[in-house]
Amino acid sequence: MARRGNLFILAAPSGAGKSSLISALLKDQPADMQVSVSTTTRAMRPGEVDGKHYHFVGVDEFKALIEQAAFFEYAEVFGNYYGTSKITIEQTLDQGIDVFLDIDWQGARQVKAQIPDAVGIYILPPSRAELEQRLRSRGQDSDEVIADRMAQAISEMSHFNEFDYVIVNAEFDTALTELQTIVHSQRNRLARQVEAHGGMLEDLLAQ
Ligand code: 5GP
Repeated sequence: MARRGNLFILAAPSGAGKSSLISALLKDQPADMQVSVSTTTRAMRPGEVDGKHYHFVGVDEFKALIEQAAFFEYAEVFGNYYGTSKITIEQTLDQGIDVFLDIDWQGARQVKAQIPDAVGIYILPPSRAELEQRLRSRGQDSDEVIADRMAQAISEMSHFNEFDYVIVNAEFDTALTELQTIVHSQRNRLARQVEAHGGMLEDLLAQ
């Protein structure tokens, strides 16, 4: 039987460095790992590419997709809808490819309810001061905008204890190593190894 891919959920507040960690993890485009491209109703930001960063759709189209049960999970996050395509996830996992979901805590809950052995990873910034510093990085936002982003980040972070692993992203390379370690540990779990190496194990253990 072919090995089914592992499902990893990565959540974090904005400013924790989640996107950079995911990009670094998949930098060499390994054939056995893929980031799921979500569908969203939020406006495209400068530099974003439709189909690469997100599938950008209108609210009516998103609602039609909900009606068609096209989403594995979806949520409203700070005023916009975001969802993960069910068919894409299932097909990718069936091909033995590990899938990384960059989603919020609400989506993470829905995924865990459907696939209990999905691995939840929460990425935290090292301190409140550092988080605020990162959220200010563009340098032109008013204190009010920053306070609003901080409040959103704190609300998102309050769910960190619903995840299996926590990475504190103080130093990027260390955080990346920790993420890679979690991925490899999951791949080496007994049940996954039995799936991946069934024939070899039978052969090894034959009397
Ligand atoms: P942004 O708009 O900054 O790209 O993302 C805002 C938040 O929405 C982030 O926490 C991101 O992880 C989350 N998000 C992105 N795609 C999905 C998705 O498909 N489902 C859910 N539940 N959250 C998502």
